[in-house]
Amino acid sequence: MSKQNRGKALWNLQSRGRGTCPVCKTERIKVLYDKTLGDGTKLKVCKRCRNKKIQCVEK
Ligand SMILES: [Zn+2]
Repeated sequence: MSKQNRGKALWNLQSRGRGTCPVCKTERIKVLYDKTLGDGTKLKVCKRCRNKKIQCVEK
């Protein structure tokens, strides 16, 4: 599963993998990284947030 977030595979995703990151609120960024929060909530976040520690997000 290398390079799963690059190239043609993205084009099969909803909105081609782009959306609004729930953490930093950046719009039209690629939101490709699975993140599991402290409470078990699963999120998709952008590359900027994938390494952040996220405790909760505004919904
Ligand atoms: Zn983000």
